[in-house]
Amino acid sequence: MSKRDFTKILLDENEIPKQWYNIVADMPNKPAPYYSPVTNQPATPDEMSVIFPKELIMQEMTTDRWVDIPDEVRDMYKQWRPSPLYRARALEKLLDTPARIYYKYEGTNATGSHKLNTALPQVFYNKAAGIKRLATETGAGQWGSALSLATSRFGLECTVYMVKVSYEQKPYRRSFMQTFGATVTASPSSLTNCGRSILEKDPNCTGSLGIAISEAVEDAATHSDTNYALGSVLNHVCMHQTIIGLEAKKQLEMVDEYPDVIFACCGGGSNFAGITFPFLMDKFKGKNVRAVAVEPTACPTLTKGVFAYDYGDTAKVAPITKMYTLGHDFVPAGIHAGGLRYHGDSPIVSQLYHDGLIEAQAFGQKACFEAALMFARSEGIVPAPESSHAIRAAIDEALKSKAEGREQVILFNLSGHGYFDFAAYDSYFTGKLDDIEYSEDAVKESIKNLPKIEE
Ligand SMILES: *Cc1c(COP(=O)(O)O)cnc(C)c1O
Repeated sequence: MSKRDFTKILLDENEIPKQWYNIVADMPNKPAPYYSPVTNQPATPDEMSVIFPKELIMQEMTTDRWVDIPDEVRDMYKQWRPSPLYRARALEKLLDTPARIYYKYEGTNATGSHKLNTALPQVFYNKAAGIKRLATETGAGQWGSALSLATSRFGLECTVYMVKVSYEQKPYRRSFMQTFGATVTASPSSLTNCGRSILEKDPNCTGSLGIAISEAVEDAATHSDTNYALGSVLNHVCMHQTIIGLEAKKQLEMVDEYPDVIFACCGGGSNFAGITFPFLMDKFKGKNVRAVAVEPTACPTLTKGVFAYDYGDTAKVAPITKMYTLGHDFVPAGIHAGGLRYHGDSPIVSQLYHDGLIEAQAFGQKACFEAALMFARSEGIVPAPESSHAIRAAIDEALKSKAEGREQVILFNLSGHGYFDFAAYDSYFTGKLDDIEYSEDAVKESIKNLPKIEE
């Protein structure tokens, strides 16, 4: 049997990486510093320490290339890591493509997505700093699920502000978080100043990620035993996720392969960062590899946004970051890939895109669900609606290989499974799913309200 005959490529648990990769060390242009929404000056570590533990602030700012993974975290990773890398043989056959397609599957843990990779270390560092409770937001529910599980493992309390529309539409995600002891509140809520002032103006407000972030940050900033945790966007989150790409690289080496092109869906950028950054490390040294971030046409941050300083939340309490953004007032349509509806993007991913080191593509949700079904019916895994964006792009690339009669190696990240998302699949099956284009006018309006930062 040749090495290339493997379908499932597994590593031993003691081959879990011992360090995360910090891409900032190798970036030709570093991501821009954060600004304070209060002073409009560069944010100081002291200001950030109101909501984050020291160790995570250090990770946010470090230019060290490698950062040690604590043993306690690595031991917990062992429950499901190293995650499997699959050769998509059945999908290749269906497409009749000369391309070889591999996917890294991050849905094998209890919460079903890559987010547990960063939830565990974030809770670990907060516990070490003496914090008793974490406050966070969740849109679709995956991040709230991951943080609920991680806090229960480490014995911390967890308060989740869940965007009201999801709270009502996704009762099982809510039950999942409650199973792990989290307190789940529909946002906007009457628990915070921010929530109360929004409810006063609009008692029927269905909420947004930006509002939920404001509520969680306010909760953390006003309680000394409580910190805030974010599931994407920030540098330390992207770094924790590099465990995905570091493992994938070893797994591909085992079958003598190296990807020509890598696809990952992109909401805040963390799973894209996770699978691509360890390969971009080689690209900086001259290796030829393409990294493509795939986003929804309803929230096309990289492909249609502007590169500018913007607020991360509605009440303007979180740090101001330089990123591709559609404007903090932009409210994307209610598409089913809830995890891809953030108005901004990771500052690192944004800088890489600005510098032409990575690419971006956007697809409508119908095309993504079509791809999700092709994948499910060939490979036997139901993908998360978010992940289906990466699948769509990988399938199109494989069809291009076929049209050109060209072999190539395609790698994509299957960021999570879709077993909590059958309401979305049901909408697709019953023809209730529309392709929603973003509104150019709404973005133009929203962009007018960007903060004025003098760099
Ligand atoms: C949250 C989520 C995403 C989007 O977040 P990123 O930070 O861009 O990775 C993608 N896929 C799944 C399954 C998610 O839960």
